[in-house]
Amino acid sequence: MSDQPLWSGNRLYYGGTWQVAKGSGSIAVASPATQEVYGAVPIANAEDVEAAVAAAEAAGPAWAAMDALDRGRHLRAVADIVRARMGDLATMEAAITGRPIREMRAQMGRIPEWLDYFGGIAAGLEAESNRLRGGFLSYTAYEPHGVCALLTPWNHPILILVKKLAAALAAGNTVVIKPSELAPATPLLFAQWCTEAGLPAGVVNVVTGDGTTGALLCDAPAVRHIDLTGGTVTGKRVAAAAAARLVPCTLELGGKTPVVIFEDSNIEEAAAGAVFAAFVAAGQTCVSASRFIVAEAIYDEFLEAFVRRVKALKVGDPADVATDVGPVISAASQARCRAHIERAQAEGARLVAGGGTPVLPAPFSSGNYVQPTVFADVTASMTLFREEVFGPIAAVTPFRDEAEALNLANDTPYALGASIWTRDVARAHRMAGKVRAGMIWVNDHHKNDPRSIWGGFGDSGYGTENGWDALKSYQRKRNVVVSTATGFDDWFAGGKRYG
Ligand code: NDP
Repeated sequence: MSDQPLWSGNRLYYGGTWQVAKGSGSIAVASPATQEVYGAVPIANAEDVEAAVAAAEAAGPAWAAMDALDRGRHLRAVADIVRARMGDLATMEAAITGRPIREMRAQMGRIPEWLDYFGGIAAGLEAESNRLRGGFLSYTAYEPHGVCALLTPWNHPILILVKKLAAALAAGNTVVIKPSELAPATPLLFAQWCTEAGLPAGVVNVVTGDGTTGALLCDAPAVRHIDLTGGTVTGKRVAAAAAARLVPCTLELGGKTPVVIFEDSNIEEAAAGAVFAAFVAAGQTCVSASRFIVAEAIYDEFLEAFVRRVKALKVGDPADVATDVGPVISAASQARCRAHIERAQAEGARLVAGGGTPVLPAPFSSGNYVQPTVFADVTASMTLFREEVFGPIAAVTPFRDEAEALNLANDTPYALGASIWTRDVARAHRMAGKVRAGMIWVNDHHKNDPRSIWGGFGDSGYGTENGWDALKSYQRKRNVVVSTATGFDDWFAGGKRYG
Protein backbone atom coordinates (compact mmCIF):
# COMPACT_ATOMS: atom_id res chain seq x y z
CA MET A 1 0.00 0.00 0.00
CA SER A 2 1.38 3.44 -0.87
CA ASP A 3 1.84 6.15 1.80
CA GLN A 4 -1.08 8.26 0.62
CA PRO A 5 -3.59 6.12 -1.19
CA LEU A 6 -6.05 7.86 -3.48
CA TRP A 7 -9.02 6.89 -1.33
CA SER A 8 -7.54 8.21 1.91
CA GLY A 9 -8.36 11.66 3.28
CA ASN A 10 -11.43 13.66 4.07
CA ARG A 11 -13.27 12.80 0.86
CA LEU A 12 -16.37 10.92 -0.18
CA TYR A 13 -17.27 9.94 -3.73
CA TYR A 14 -20.58 11.16 -5.11
CA GLY A 15 -21.94 13.07 -8.08
CA GLY A 16 -19.17 11.62 -10.26
CA THR A 17 -16.28 13.11 -8.29
CA TRP A 18 -14.44 13.23 -4.96
CA GLN A 19 -16.20 15.55 -2.51
CA VAL A 20 -14.86 17.04 0.71
CA ALA A 21 -16.82 15.60 3.63
CA LYS A 22 -18.68 17.98 5.89
CA GLY A 23 -18.67 15.54 8.82
CA SER A 24 -15.79 15.99 11.23
CA GLY A 25 -14.95 12.44 12.34
CA SER A 26 -12.78 9.90 10.56
CA ILE A 27 -12.14 6.16 10.66
CA ALA A 28 -8.68 4.62 10.36
CA VAL A 29 -8.27 1.85 7.81
CA ALA A 30 -5.77 -0.68 9.12
CA SER A 31 -4.38 -4.10 8.40
CA PRO A 32 -5.95 -6.83 10.54
CA ALA A 33 -2.72 -8.80 10.00
CA THR A 34 -0.29 -6.21 11.40
CA GLN A 35 -2.35 -3.21 12.64
CA GLU A 36 -0.47 -1.01 10.16
CA VAL A 37 -2.65 2.02 9.40
CA TYR A 38 -3.05 2.58 5.66
CA GLY A 39 -5.13 5.74 5.78
CA ALA A 40 -8.48 7.07 6.93
CA VAL A 41 -11.93 7.81 5.59
CA PRO A 42 -14.43 10.38 6.81
CA ILE A 43 -17.60 9.72 8.77
CA ALA A 44 -20.29 11.20 6.57
CA ASN A 45 -22.81 13.30 8.50
CA ALA A 46 -26.44 14.10 7.68
CA GLU A 47 -25.43 16.86 5.26
CA ASP A 48 -23.07 14.51 3.39
CA VAL A 49 -25.70 11.79 3.17
CA GLU A 50 -28.26 14.30 1.94
CA ALA A 51 -25.86 15.55 -0.75
CA ALA A 52 -24.99 12.01 -1.93
CA VAL A 53 -28.66 11.01 -2.06
CA ALA A 54 -29.45 14.23 -3.93
CA ALA A 55 -26.75 13.36 -6.49
CA ALA A 56 -28.27 9.90 -6.94
CA GLU A 57 -31.76 11.37 -7.22
CA ALA A 58 -30.66 13.92 -9.83
CA ALA A 59 -29.03 11.19 -11.94
CA GLY A 60 -32.05 8.90 -11.63
CA PRO A 61 -34.44 10.01 -14.40
CA ALA A 62 -31.86 9.93 -17.21
CA TRP A 63 -30.42 6.60 -16.07
CA ALA A 64 -33.89 5.07 -15.78
CA ALA A 65 -34.88 6.43 -19.20
CA MET A 66 -31.76 5.04 -20.88
CA ASP A 67 -32.41 1.99 -23.01
CA ALA A 68 -31.65 -1.11 -20.95
CA LEU A 69 -29.25 -2.33 -23.66
CA ASP A 70 -27.22 0.85 -23.13
CA ARG A 71 -27.23 0.42 -19.36
CA GLY A 72 -25.94 -3.08 -20.03
CA ARG A 73 -23.09 -1.68 -22.10
CA HIS A 74 -22.16 0.61 -19.22
CA LEU A 75 -22.03 -2.30 -16.81
CA ARG A 76 -19.80 -4.25 -19.17
CA ALA A 77 -17.48 -1.23 -19.42
CA VAL A 78 -17.13 -1.32 -15.62
CA ALA A 79 -16.39 -5.06 -15.91
CA ASP A 80 -13.57 -4.26 -18.36
CA ILE A 81 -11.99 -1.81 -15.91
CA VAL A 82 -12.20 -4.37 -13.11
CA ARG A 83 -10.54 -6.97 -15.37
CA ALA A 84 -7.73 -4.57 -16.22
CA ARG A 85 -7.10 -3.63 -12.55
CA MET A 86 -7.83 -6.97 -10.96
CA GLY A 87 -4.34 -7.46 -9.58
CA ASP A 88 -4.33 -4.14 -7.72
CA LEU A 89 -7.86 -4.71 -6.48
CA ALA A 90 -6.99 -8.14 -5.08
CA THR A 91 -3.89 -6.73 -3.35
CA MET A 92 -5.96 -4.02 -1.68
CA GLU A 93 -8.75 -6.36 -0.67
CA ALA A 94 -6.24 -8.77 0.89
CA ALA A 95 -4.42 -5.95 2.71
CA ILE A 96 -7.59 -4.44 4.17
CA THR A 97 -9.61 -7.56 4.97
CA GLY A 98 -6.68 -9.82 5.87
CA ARG A 99 -7.97 -12.50 3.54
CA PRO A 100 -5.23 -14.47 1.76
CA ILE A 101 -4.18 -13.06 -1.60
CA ARG A 102 -4.89 -16.39 -3.32
CA GLU A 103 -8.52 -16.14 -2.22
CA MET A 104 -8.83 -12.51 -3.20
CA ARG A 105 -7.30 -13.03 -6.65
CA ALA A 106 -9.79 -15.82 -7.28
CA GLN A 107 -12.68 -13.71 -6.00
CA MET A 108 -11.73 -10.57 -7.96
CA GLY A 109 -11.42 -12.77 -11.07
CA ARG A 110 -15.13 -13.47 -10.78
CA ILE A 111 -16.40 -9.91 -10.18
CA PRO A 112 -16.90 -9.15 -13.91
CA GLU A 113 -19.31 -12.10 -14.14
CA TRP A 114 -21.93 -10.16 -12.14
CA LEU A 115 -21.51 -7.04 -14.25
CA ASP A 116 -21.59 -9.02 -17.51
CA TYR A 117 -24.57 -11.10 -16.39
CA PHE A 118 -26.79 -8.25 -15.20
CA GLY A 119 -25.57 -6.12 -18.10
CA GLY A 120 -26.77 -8.97 -20.32
CA ILE A 121 -30.20 -9.51 -18.80
CA ALA A 122 -30.89 -5.81 -18.20
CA ALA A 123 -33.08 -5.66 -21.28
CA GLY A 124 -34.77 -8.97 -20.60
CA LEU A 125 -37.61 -7.96 -18.31
CA GLU A 126 -40.32 -8.65 -20.80
CA ALA A 127 -43.77 -7.59 -19.72
CA GLU A 128 -46.99 -9.51 -20.39
CA SER A 129 -50.18 -8.42 -22.09
CA ASN A 130 -53.70 -9.86 -22.15
CA ARG A 131 -57.00 -9.16 -23.83
CA LEU A 132 -59.75 -8.93 -21.21
CA ARG A 133 -63.45 -9.56 -21.64
CA GLY A 134 -65.31 -6.39 -22.64
CA GLY A 135 -62.64 -5.11 -25.03
CA PHE A 136 -59.80 -4.26 -22.72
CA LEU A 137 -56.06 -4.52 -23.28
CA SER A 138 -54.12 -5.18 -20.07
CA TYR A 139 -50.35 -4.99 -19.93
CA THR A 140 -47.61 -4.92 -17.29
CA ALA A 141 -44.65 -2.59 -17.10
CA TYR A 142 -41.50 -2.53 -14.98
CA GLU A 143 -39.90 0.55 -13.53
CA PRO A 144 -36.96 1.08 -11.15
CA HIS A 145 -37.50 2.05 -7.51
CA GLY A 146 -35.28 5.12 -7.78
CA VAL A 147 -32.44 5.70 -5.31
CA CYS A 148 -31.30 2.48 -3.62
CA ALA A 149 -29.21 2.29 -0.43
CA LEU A 150 -26.64 -0.51 -0.48
CA LEU A 151 -25.31 -1.32 3.01
CA THR A 152 -22.36 -3.64 2.55
CA PRO A 153 -20.10 -5.63 4.89
CA TRP A 154 -16.35 -6.05 5.24
CA ASN A 155 -15.89 -9.75 4.49
CA HIS A 156 -16.25 -9.48 0.68
CA PRO A 157 -16.20 -5.68 0.21
CA ILE A 158 -16.31 -5.67 -3.61
CA LEU A 159 -18.07 -8.97 -4.33
CA ILE A 160 -21.10 -8.19 -2.18
CA LEU A 161 -21.20 -4.58 -3.37
CA VAL A 162 -21.11 -5.66 -7.05
CA LYS A 163 -23.73 -8.39 -6.53
CA LYS A 164 -26.14 -5.71 -5.36
CA LEU A 165 -25.00 -2.84 -7.59
CA ALA A 166 -25.07 -4.78 -10.87
CA ALA A 167 -28.72 -5.78 -10.36
CA ALA A 168 -29.73 -2.34 -9.10
CA LEU A 169 -28.14 -0.43 -11.99
CA ALA A 170 -29.27 -2.91 -14.63
CA ALA A 171 -32.83 -2.34 -13.41
CA GLY A 172 -32.43 1.42 -13.85
CA ASN A 173 -31.85 2.55 -10.27
CA THR A 174 -29.10 4.79 -8.97
CA VAL A 175 -27.28 3.82 -5.77
CA VAL A 176 -25.72 5.24 -2.64
CA ILE A 177 -23.36 2.73 -1.04
CA LYS A 178 -22.44 2.72 2.66
CA PRO A 179 -19.57 0.25 2.99
CA SER A 180 -18.51 -1.21 6.31
CA GLU A 181 -16.28 1.03 8.38
CA LEU A 182 -13.85 -1.92 8.51
CA ALA A 183 -13.28 -2.05 4.75
CA PRO A 184 -14.39 1.17 3.04
CA ALA A 185 -11.44 1.82 0.70
CA THR A 186 -12.13 -0.39 -2.31
CA PRO A 187 -15.79 0.68 -2.57
CA LEU A 188 -14.65 4.34 -2.77
CA LEU A 189 -12.18 3.50 -5.53
CA PHE A 190 -14.75 1.36 -7.31
CA ALA A 191 -17.09 4.35 -7.53
CA GLN A 192 -14.37 6.35 -9.21
CA TRP A 193 -13.77 3.49 -11.65
CA CYS A 194 -17.45 3.56 -12.55
CA THR A 195 -17.04 7.22 -13.57
CA GLU A 196 -13.91 6.32 -15.56
CA ALA A 197 -15.91 3.58 -17.29
CA GLY A 198 -18.34 6.24 -18.49
CA LEU A 199 -21.22 5.91 -16.05
CA PRO A 200 -23.02 9.23 -15.72
CA ALA A 201 -22.25 11.28 -12.61
CA GLY A 202 -24.46 10.40 -9.67
CA VAL A 203 -25.34 6.87 -10.76
CA VAL A 204 -22.89 5.36 -8.23
CA ASN A 205 -22.19 7.21 -4.97
CA VAL A 206 -20.37 6.22 -1.78
CA VAL A 207 -20.63 7.64 1.73
CA THR A 208 -18.28 6.20 4.33
CA GLY A 209 -18.88 6.14 8.05
CA ASP A 210 -20.22 3.88 10.76
CA GLY A 211 -23.65 2.51 11.61
CA THR A 212 -24.92 6.06 12.24
CA THR A 213 -24.18 6.98 8.63
CA GLY A 214 -25.96 3.80 7.51
CA ALA A 215 -28.99 4.72 9.60
CA LEU A 216 -29.06 8.26 8.13
CA LEU A 217 -29.03 6.73 4.66
CA CYS A 218 -31.92 4.38 5.50
CA ASP A 219 -33.94 7.38 6.70
CA ALA A 220 -33.23 9.59 3.66
CA PRO A 221 -36.66 10.33 2.13
CA ALA A 222 -35.46 9.84 -1.47
CA VAL A 223 -34.16 6.30 -0.76
CA ARG A 224 -36.80 3.93 -2.15
CA HIS A 225 -35.16 0.53 -1.64
CA ILE A 226 -32.65 -0.75 0.92
CA ASP A 227 -30.35 -3.75 0.52
CA LEU A 228 -28.21 -4.91 3.45
CA THR A 229 -25.73 -7.71 3.98
CA GLY A 230 -24.75 -7.86 7.62
CA GLY A 231 -25.69 -9.25 11.01
CA THR A 232 -29.18 -10.16 12.20
CA VAL A 233 -29.24 -7.36 14.81
CA THR A 234 -28.49 -4.76 12.14
CA GLY A 235 -30.97 -6.48 9.83
CA LYS A 236 -33.79 -5.94 12.31
CA ARG A 237 -32.86 -2.26 12.71
CA VAL A 238 -32.74 -1.73 8.97
CA ALA A 239 -36.03 -3.60 8.46
CA ALA A 240 -37.65 -1.34 11.10
CA ALA A 241 -36.30 1.79 9.39
CA ALA A 242 -37.59 0.52 6.03
CA ALA A 243 -40.99 -0.38 7.51
CA ALA A 244 -41.33 3.08 9.07
CA ARG A 245 -41.26 4.54 5.56
CA LEU A 246 -42.90 1.54 3.80
CA VAL A 247 -39.80 1.06 1.69
CA PRO A 248 -38.98 -2.48 0.48
CA CYS A 249 -35.74 -4.07 1.60
CA THR A 250 -33.57 -7.10 1.01
CA LEU A 251 -31.72 -8.53 4.01
CA GLU A 252 -28.90 -11.07 3.70
CA LEU A 253 -27.97 -11.78 7.30
CA GLY A 254 -26.26 -14.34 9.49
CA GLY A 255 -26.30 -18.11 9.52
CA LYS A 256 -25.32 -21.24 11.42
CA THR A 257 -24.70 -23.37 8.38
CA PRO A 258 -25.02 -27.14 8.79
CA VAL A 259 -22.97 -29.62 6.77
CA VAL A 260 -24.47 -33.12 6.87
CA ILE A 261 -22.05 -35.89 5.97
CA PHE A 262 -23.51 -39.35 5.37
CA GLU A 263 -21.69 -42.65 5.72
CA ASP A 264 -21.67 -43.27 1.95
CA SER A 265 -19.56 -40.15 1.27
CA ASN A 266 -16.02 -40.30 -0.01
CA ILE A 267 -14.40 -39.42 3.30
CA GLU A 268 -11.29 -37.68 1.98
CA GLU A 269 -13.39 -35.58 -0.41
CA ALA A 270 -15.84 -34.73 2.35
CA ALA A 271 -12.95 -33.76 4.65
CA ALA A 272 -11.42 -31.54 1.95
CA GLY A 273 -14.85 -29.99 1.36
CA ALA A 274 -15.29 -29.48 5.09
CA VAL A 275 -12.02 -27.59 5.41
CA PHE A 276 -12.96 -25.35 2.48
CA ALA A 277 -16.47 -24.86 3.84
CA ALA A 278 -15.30 -23.84 7.32
CA PHE A 279 -11.96 -22.09 6.88
CA VAL A 280 -11.98 -20.14 3.62
CA ALA A 281 -12.11 -16.43 4.59
CA ALA A 282 -11.11 -17.59 8.10
CA GLY A 283 -14.73 -18.66 8.55
CA GLN A 284 -16.00 -15.12 8.05
CA THR A 285 -18.73 -15.61 5.50
CA CYS A 286 -22.47 -15.76 6.02
CA VAL A 287 -22.52 -19.39 4.83
CA SER A 288 -19.34 -20.58 6.55
CA ALA A 289 -19.82 -24.15 7.67
CA SER A 290 -19.94 -24.11 11.42
CA ARG A 291 -21.88 -27.29 12.32
CA PHE A 292 -20.63 -30.58 10.89
CA ILE A 293 -23.26 -33.25 11.44
CA VAL A 294 -21.55 -36.55 10.72
CA ALA A 295 -22.83 -40.16 10.54
CA GLU A 296 -21.71 -42.19 13.54
CA ALA A 297 -20.47 -44.97 11.26
CA ILE A 298 -17.75 -42.71 9.80
CA TYR A 299 -17.42 -40.22 12.65
CA ASP A 300 -13.91 -41.15 13.82
CA GLU A 301 -12.58 -41.68 10.32
CA PHE A 302 -13.99 -38.33 9.11
CA LEU A 303 -12.70 -36.51 12.18
CA GLU A 304 -9.19 -37.88 11.64
CA ALA A 305 -9.17 -36.78 7.97
CA PHE A 306 -10.69 -33.37 8.80
CA VAL A 307 -8.33 -32.61 11.68
CA ARG A 308 -5.27 -33.76 9.70
CA ARG A 309 -6.15 -31.22 6.99
CA VAL A 310 -7.01 -28.43 9.43
CA LYS A 311 -3.67 -28.84 11.21
CA ALA A 312 -1.88 -28.54 7.84
CA LEU A 313 -3.43 -25.12 7.07
CA LYS A 314 -0.82 -22.39 6.83
CA VAL A 315 -1.78 -19.36 8.89
CA GLY A 316 0.08 -16.12 8.28
CA ASP A 317 0.76 -13.17 5.99
CA PRO A 318 -2.27 -12.51 3.74
CA ALA A 319 0.07 -11.23 0.99
CA ASP A 320 1.88 -14.59 0.79
CA VAL A 321 0.42 -16.91 -1.86
CA ALA A 322 1.20 -19.88 0.38
CA THR A 323 -1.08 -18.60 3.18
CA ASP A 324 -4.33 -20.50 3.64
CA VAL A 325 -5.84 -18.60 6.56
CA GLY A 326 -5.37 -14.96 7.49
CA PRO A 327 -6.43 -13.01 10.58
CA VAL A 328 -10.01 -12.22 11.55
CA ILE A 329 -11.16 -8.71 10.77
CA SER A 330 -10.77 -6.98 14.14
CA ALA A 331 -9.53 -7.29 17.69
CA ALA A 332 -13.19 -7.49 18.77
CA SER A 333 -13.71 -10.45 16.40
CA GLN A 334 -10.60 -12.13 17.77
CA ALA A 335 -11.85 -11.65 21.33
CA ARG A 336 -15.27 -13.07 20.35
CA CYS A 337 -13.59 -16.16 18.84
CA ARG A 338 -11.47 -16.63 21.96
CA ALA A 339 -14.56 -16.39 24.16
CA HIS A 340 -16.30 -19.05 22.03
CA ILE A 341 -13.29 -21.36 22.39
CA GLU A 342 -13.21 -20.95 26.16
CA ARG A 343 -16.94 -21.45 26.46
CA ALA A 344 -16.94 -24.56 24.26
CA GLN A 345 -14.26 -26.08 26.50
CA ALA A 346 -16.15 -25.11 29.64
CA GLU A 347 -19.35 -26.67 28.25
CA GLY A 348 -17.55 -29.97 27.60
CA ALA A 349 -16.81 -29.99 23.85
CA ARG A 350 -13.64 -31.91 22.90
CA LEU A 351 -10.91 -29.71 21.37
CA VAL A 352 -9.26 -31.67 18.55
CA ALA A 353 -7.46 -28.95 16.55
CA GLY A 354 -6.21 -25.42 17.25
CA GLY A 355 -7.76 -23.55 20.12
CA GLY A 356 -4.97 -21.03 20.57
CA THR A 357 -3.41 -17.97 19.00
CA PRO A 358 -0.84 -18.82 16.32
CA VAL A 359 2.73 -17.86 17.10
CA LEU A 360 3.81 -15.65 14.21
CA PRO A 361 6.84 -13.41 13.65
CA ALA A 362 6.55 -9.60 13.78
CA PRO A 363 4.70 -7.73 12.42
CA PHE A 364 2.09 -10.52 12.27
CA SER A 365 2.45 -11.15 15.99
CA SER A 366 0.26 -8.04 16.39
CA GLY A 367 -2.44 -9.35 14.04
CA ASN A 368 -5.94 -10.58 14.93
CA TYR A 369 -5.11 -14.23 14.40
CA VAL A 370 -7.03 -17.24 15.68
CA GLN A 371 -5.82 -20.80 15.08
CA PRO A 372 -8.15 -22.84 12.86
CA THR A 373 -10.04 -24.72 15.55
CA VAL A 374 -12.20 -27.85 15.63
CA PHE A 375 -14.34 -29.11 18.49
CA ALA A 376 -15.72 -32.67 18.40
CA ASP A 377 -18.66 -34.14 20.35
CA VAL A 378 -20.52 -30.84 20.30
CA THR A 379 -24.13 -31.27 21.44
CA ALA A 380 -27.14 -29.30 20.30
CA SER A 381 -27.41 -27.52 23.65
CA MET A 382 -23.87 -26.08 23.54
CA THR A 383 -23.34 -22.44 22.66
CA LEU A 384 -20.98 -23.38 19.83
CA PHE A 385 -23.82 -25.27 18.15
CA ARG A 386 -26.26 -22.40 18.56
CA GLU A 387 -24.50 -19.06 18.08
CA GLU A 388 -22.90 -17.69 14.94
CA VAL A 389 -19.14 -17.38 15.50
CA PHE A 390 -17.99 -15.71 12.25
CA GLY A 391 -14.47 -17.02 12.68
CA PRO A 392 -12.32 -20.14 12.09
CA ILE A 393 -14.05 -22.44 14.57
CA ALA A 394 -15.90 -25.61 13.56
CA ALA A 395 -18.16 -27.88 15.63
CA VAL A 396 -18.57 -31.60 14.87
CA THR A 397 -21.60 -33.57 16.08
CA PRO A 398 -22.45 -37.26 15.43
CA PHE A 399 -25.85 -38.52 14.25
CA ARG A 400 -27.39 -42.00 14.22
CA ASP A 401 -29.90 -41.83 11.36
CA GLU A 402 -31.29 -39.51 8.70
CA ALA A 403 -34.11 -38.25 10.93
CA GLU A 404 -31.67 -37.21 13.63
CA ALA A 405 -29.40 -35.57 11.04
CA LEU A 406 -32.33 -33.53 9.79
CA ASN A 407 -33.41 -32.51 13.31
CA LEU A 408 -29.90 -31.37 14.13
CA ALA A 409 -29.49 -29.48 10.85
CA ASN A 410 -32.79 -27.66 11.37
CA ASP A 411 -32.21 -26.91 15.06
CA THR A 412 -31.44 -23.22 14.46
CA PRO A 413 -33.42 -20.02 13.85
CA TYR A 414 -31.21 -19.30 10.84
CA ALA A 415 -31.96 -20.59 7.34
CA LEU A 416 -29.28 -19.45 4.93
CA GLY A 417 -26.89 -22.14 3.60
CA ALA A 418 -26.57 -25.91 4.08
CA SER A 419 -24.59 -28.67 2.43
CA ILE A 420 -25.29 -32.36 2.15
CA TRP A 421 -22.58 -34.90 1.40
CA THR A 422 -23.78 -38.25 0.07
CA ARG A 423 -23.48 -40.42 -3.04
CA ASP A 424 -27.10 -41.57 -2.66
CA VAL A 425 -29.03 -39.42 -5.13
CA ALA A 426 -32.44 -40.11 -3.59
CA ARG A 427 -31.18 -39.24 -0.11
CA ALA A 428 -29.56 -36.05 -1.43
CA HIS A 429 -32.84 -34.79 -2.87
CA ARG A 430 -34.86 -36.02 0.12
CA MET A 431 -32.64 -34.06 2.47
CA ALA A 432 -32.52 -31.03 0.17
CA GLY A 433 -36.32 -30.96 0.32
CA LYS A 434 -36.37 -30.89 4.12
CA VAL A 435 -33.34 -28.92 5.29
CA ARG A 436 -34.40 -25.38 6.21
CA ALA A 437 -32.06 -23.21 4.15
CA GLY A 438 -32.32 -20.77 1.28
CA MET A 439 -29.29 -22.29 -0.46
CA ILE A 440 -28.37 -25.95 -0.44
CA TRP A 441 -25.30 -27.53 -1.96
CA VAL A 442 -24.91 -31.26 -2.57
CA ASN A 443 -21.30 -32.52 -2.42
CA ASP A 444 -20.01 -28.95 -2.48
CA HIS A 445 -20.16 -25.72 -0.50
CA HIS A 446 -20.02 -21.94 -1.01
CA LYS A 447 -20.76 -22.16 -4.77
CA ASN A 448 -21.97 -18.71 -5.78
CA ASP A 449 -22.91 -17.63 -9.29
CA PRO A 450 -24.86 -14.69 -10.72
CA ARG A 451 -27.34 -17.26 -12.13
CA SER A 452 -28.10 -18.99 -8.80
CA ILE A 453 -30.32 -17.10 -6.41
CA TRP A 454 -28.76 -16.30 -3.05
CA GLY A 455 -30.59 -15.53 0.18
CA GLY A 456 -32.22 -17.01 3.24
CA PHE A 457 -35.20 -16.82 5.56
CA GLY A 458 -35.89 -16.95 9.31
CA ASP A 459 -33.15 -15.07 11.18
CA SER A 460 -31.12 -15.05 7.95
CA GLY A 461 -33.32 -12.33 6.45
CA TYR A 462 -35.43 -12.14 3.31
CA GLY A 463 -35.23 -11.33 -0.37
CA THR A 464 -32.75 -12.70 -2.86
CA GLU A 465 -29.59 -11.68 -4.61
CA ASN A 466 -28.49 -13.05 -8.00
CA GLY A 467 -30.55 -14.15 -10.96
CA TRP A 468 -33.76 -12.77 -12.42
CA ASP A 469 -35.24 -12.54 -8.93
CA ALA A 470 -32.65 -9.93 -7.96
CA LEU A 471 -33.28 -7.91 -11.13
CA LYS A 472 -37.04 -8.04 -10.51
CA SER A 473 -36.67 -7.09 -6.85
CA TYR A 474 -34.97 -3.92 -8.00
CA GLN A 475 -38.03 -2.91 -9.99
CA ARG A 476 -41.70 -2.49 -9.32
CA LYS A 477 -44.15 -4.09 -11.64
CA ARG A 478 -47.22 -2.13 -12.64
CA ASN A 479 -50.32 -2.82 -14.69
CA VAL A 480 -52.14 -0.73 -17.28
CA VAL A 481 -55.68 -1.50 -18.49
CA VAL A 482 -56.84 0.25 -21.67
CA SER A 483 -60.39 0.20 -22.94
CA THR A 484 -60.40 -0.55 -26.66
CA ALA A 485 -64.21 -0.45 -26.87
CA THR A 486 -65.87 2.11 -29.04
CA GLY A 487 -67.67 3.71 -26.07
CA PHE A 488 -67.87 3.66 -22.27
CA ASP A 489 -70.09 0.91 -20.83
CA ASP A 490 -71.95 3.09 -18.32
CA TRP A 491 -73.07 1.02 -15.32
CA PHE A 492 -75.54 3.59 -14.02
CA ALA A 493 -77.18 3.80 -17.40
CA GLY A 494 -77.85 0.05 -17.37
CA GLY A 495 -74.42 -1.11 -18.50
CA LYS A 496 -73.39 -4.76 -18.05
CA ARG A 497 -69.98 -4.26 -16.58
CA TYR A 498 -69.06 -4.30 -12.89
CA GLY A 499 -65.62 -3.12 -11.67
P1 NDP B 1 -23.14 -5.16 10.70
O1 NDP B 1 -24.39 -5.88 10.50
O2 NDP B 1 -23.03 -4.28 11.88
O3 NDP B 1 -22.80 -4.26 9.42
C1 NDP B 1 -23.26 -4.45 8.10
C2 NDP B 1 -23.38 -3.10 7.41
O4 NDP B 1 -24.47 -2.36 7.96
C3 NDP B 1 -22.16 -2.21 7.61
O5 NDP B 1 -21.98 -1.38 6.48
C4 NDP B 1 -22.56 -1.40 8.82
O6 NDP B 1 -21.80 -0.23 8.97
C5 NDP B 1 -23.99 -1.11 8.49
N1 NDP B 1 -24.81 -0.74 9.65
C6 NDP B 1 -24.60 -1.00 10.96
N2 NDP B 1 -25.63 -0.53 11.70
C7 NDP B 1 -26.49 0.05 10.85
C8 NDP B 1 -27.76 0.72 10.98
N3 NDP B 1 -28.35 0.88 12.17
N4 NDP B 1 -28.37 1.18 9.87
C9 NDP B 1 -27.81 1.01 8.67
N5 NDP B 1 -26.62 0.40 8.47
C10 NDP B 1 -25.98 -0.07 9.54
O7 NDP B 1 -21.96 -6.19 10.66
P2 NDP B 1 -20.64 -6.24 11.52
O8 NDP B 1 -19.52 -5.92 10.64
O9 NDP B 1 -20.70 -5.46 12.78
O10 NDP B 1 -20.66 -7.75 11.92
C11 NDP B 1 -21.52 -8.20 12.96
C12 NDP B 1 -21.96 -9.58 12.65
O11 NDP B 1 -22.75 -9.57 11.47
C13 NDP B 1 -20.85 -10.55 12.33
O12 NDP B 1 -20.25 -11.04 13.48
C14 NDP B 1 -21.61 -11.57 11.57
O13 NDP B 1 -22.31 -12.38 12.47
C15 NDP B 1 -22.59 -10.78 10.77
N6 NDP B 1 -22.14 -10.46 9.41
C16 NDP B 1 -22.70 -11.15 8.41
C17 NDP B 1 -22.30 -10.93 7.12
C18 NDP B 1 -22.89 -11.68 6.02
O14 NDP B 1 -22.20 -11.93 5.05
N7 NDP B 1 -24.18 -11.99 6.10
C19 NDP B 1 -21.24 -9.99 6.79
C20 NDP B 1 -20.73 -9.26 7.93
C21 NDP B 1 -21.18 -9.53 9.19
P3 NDP B 1 -20.50 -0.28 9.93
O15 NDP B 1 -19.75 -1.54 9.64
O16 NDP B 1 -19.76 0.90 9.48
O17 NDP B 1 -21.02 -0.25 11.33
